[in-house]
Amino acid sequence: MINRYLTTAIPYVNGVPHIGHAMDYCLADVCARYYKLLGDNVRVQAGTDEHGGKIFQKARELNIPVQEYVDSNAKKFQDFIAKLNVSYTDFVRTSDPDHEKRVQEIWKKLSSHIYLEKYEGWYCTGCERFITQKEYDENGGVCPDHQKPYEKLEEENYYFRISDFKDKIREAIESGEMLILPDFRKKEIMKLLDESPDVSVSRPKSQLKWGITVPDDESQTMYVWLDALSNYITVLGYPDNDISDWWPATAQFVGKDILRFHAIIWPAMLLGLGLPLPKTIVSHGMVLANGQKMSKSIGNVVDPLEVIECYGVDAFRYFFLRKVDTFADADFTWEKFEESYNNELANDFGNLVQRLSTMMSKNHVALGDVSIELPEEYKALMDKFEFSMAFDYAWSLVQDINKRIDDEKPWALAKAGEGEKLEECLQNLAGSLMIANLMLEPFLPNATAKVKEVFEAEQVAPPVQPLFPKH
Ligand SMILES: [Zn+2]
Repeated sequence: MINRYLTTAIPYVNGVPHIGHAMDYCLADVCARYYKLLGDNVRVQAGTDEHGGKIFQKARELNIPVQEYVDSNAKKFQDFIAKLNVSYTDFVRTSDPDHEKRVQEIWKKLSSHIYLEKYEGWYCTGCERFITQKEYDENGGVCPDHQKPYEKLEEENYYFRISDFKDKIREAIESGEMLILPDFRKKEIMKLLDESPDVSVSRPKSQLKWGITVPDDESQTMYVWLDALSNYITVLGYPDNDISDWWPATAQFVGKDILRFHAIIWPAMLLGLGLPLPKTIVSHGMVLANGQKMSKSIGNVVDPLEVIECYGVDAFRYFFLRKVDTFADADFTWEKFEESYNNELANDFGNLVQRLSTMMSKNHVALGDVSIELPEEYKALMDKFEFSMAFDYAWSLVQDINKRIDDEKPWALAKAGEGEKLEECLQNLAGSLMIANLMLEPFLPNATAKVKEVFEAEQVAPPVQPLFPKH
């Protein structure tokens, strides 16, 4: 059996779960369910990023201990993941003592690539990061995300020498040893890699109180990179355990906004540790609302939980895994959502299940001995992480079965008393539906389980409730 390790980005827990997080989880989940269909062993990581000044500040404002604050927020993300019908095998929290201890070990192992230097430069307190002069100039000295002028800051920090690894990273990306998807993002990364400076990996403790202490320097706290990115291997037990059964990861799922960290800093860390690079980094796009970036200040944020509450989790997964291209930005509007729900999920699929099972029930036809296997075309797309295209492929079979019913008119065969032909016709249609259903399993776990139950029964009976009631 093949072991597959899939990872999701760990969200910073100072906010509420949103669609971007949902995309990460759902894509990893589709991938995991697909590998399980193939018979592979699958391990899926999820987790939360819990250190940093913003979290410390927020807990202070709420007047509660920081640990209490992050505990309750980590729980929110776990509940959110469950609502998406996504399962994981490992959940890592960066405030876990095990994680903290392992990150300190990782720092020590990387110490020949870490140096202390005084830094003077522009900083955004909102972003909690230093801004390059180029960025400063491009944005006219004001952070576009926070609408606040950058501040001048001078302090002593530890730096991780990215330049030690640039050649090797470039080689790995070019040779496909570390595949970056989609291809146009890979090109962006190659350009960014050339100009990537060394990264600051610590802050003075006076500035950053909530975080992991730098080994052998009580005056410094680790800054996000080494702490957060390490989660993908500390959760497997590194460096205490041998992780070679699971590492390198088959795929790491990240939003496009954090791809650069995962395609540059993270591989540099792995190379410094002498570990292999992830096989694939899949970067997905952003979901827009009516063509605009979702933001609290515009008030156009679409709450995934509201969608799930109204239409069910499969409907949510349908839209965000099929109508949203796996790699590109996409637009959400309630109109588009409702249209695809009613026309496709309810009509194309729900009605088909209802119609076909009713005819089989009436005429006492069972599924019989049909071979149900994943088509090669579908597998080829799934293997390339082209999930939305694989979903389209499965859906075209659903639409094809609908057309065949209209063409073959099983009701006319029944009327003419052609019992044998009728049985064969319905069994062929049901066999095709079971193949479509199998392809849809990773995407629509609830509905496909019900369809299996209906058609695999000794006596087929239509579902009591339609799979996707019309809205
Ligand atoms: Zn900012």
